[in-house]
Amino acid sequence: MNTLTAAEADILADPAAHRILTGDRPTGRLHLGHYFGTLHNRVRLQHLGVETFVLIADYQVLTDRDIADDLAGHVEELMLDYLAVGIDPQRSTIFTHSAVPALNQLLLPFLSLVSVAELGRNPTVKDEIAHSRQSSVSGLMFTYPVHQAADILFCKADLVPVGQDQLPHLELTRTIARRFNDRYGKLFPEPAAMLSAAPLLLGTDGTKMSKSRGNAVALAADADATARLLRGAKTDGERHITYDPAHRPEVSSLVLLTALCEDRDPVAVAAEIGGEGAAALKKRATEAVNEYLAPIRARRAQYAQDRGYLRQVLREGNERAIAIAEKTLSEVRAAMNHLC
Ligand code: ATP
Ligand code: MG
Repeated sequence: MNTLTAAEADILADPAAHRILTGDRPTGRLHLGHYFGTLHNRVRLQHLGVETFVLIADYQVLTDRDIADDLAGHVEELMLDYLAVGIDPQRSTIFTHSAVPALNQLLLPFLSLVSVAELGRNPTVKDEIAHSRQSSVSGLMFTYPVHQAADILFCKADLVPVGQDQLPHLELTRTIARRFNDRYGKLFPEPAAMLSAAPLLLGTDGTKMSKSRGNAVALAADADATARLLRGAKTDGERHITYDPAHRPEVSSLVLLTALCEDRDPVAVAAEIGGEGAAALKKRATEAVNEYLAPIRARRAQYAQDRGYLRQVLREGNERAIAIAEKTLSEVRAAMNHLC
């Protein structure tokens, strides 16, 4: 299902000329939306030889809740998911942004480059405010897309494999890079988003599959839980199954999920199920997901035996990220004429 785009041909021609950054909030286990939205692309690009940075966005947990519950546990769960899907610490840097002070300091000059009106217009932030657990909107929620610009630009990443909800943030990062370069001299690339074939996988309630919305099939779920969750997925009143994302989003998301797991075309998958209806679609989706995830789940269980290794991978990743962030921050300070 992965066709080679012009951007990918360019990457293949010289993988070492590119750098990827993406990340996730440690708010729970990663799910199928993450996998087909971004993880699969991260691993693919890593194997092509592109230097890869994987950020665990621990401060950003606090954008939509007062307390980051069991933060250390969630970070470990993320690490397990990363290793299980094939992110290789020998080739990729996994780090937490709270451990990298120089990265966070970039937030200050970057905040000076955007207006309050621009921050208020961001459609993803509006959606997240609507689903927030807080009664009022915190400054961190309002400004986290600028924090993401610091996450991406500290290592001068030029490629960001993300889901669709991240596109407004990527646009803001590009704006910040451009404005910084115009004002202080060229320092940052304007990074490009890389969308997958499933940039917005829906959860069992028909809205974006999210860790925090109780609508997700976790990569680590067992086969029975996966069957139960998918059996309860929202569909529509039409019996005949078709692939029509614009008009039948819930059914089409299930068809797409099945097709991705089977490495088939979603239109063909829908045609095969046809008049057998939603129950048959859910059954087929369940079988496809469980078969696809079986090796990932087995690897995850193995890595879970050695928590010390997880800590070591994170320590080494943080050290690498700190060195890069300090170098970038000193370049920023020199460009801004700060006295050393
Ligand atoms: P939370 O509910 O805590 O915000 P989340 O499920 O939205 O969790 P994030 O950590 O916010 O996950 O997102 C990490 C990355 O995964 C982002 O690049 C995002 O675009 C992508 N992603 C998340 N959910 C989906 C989805 N349903 N479909 C495609 N991509 C997704
Ligand atoms: Mg999110």
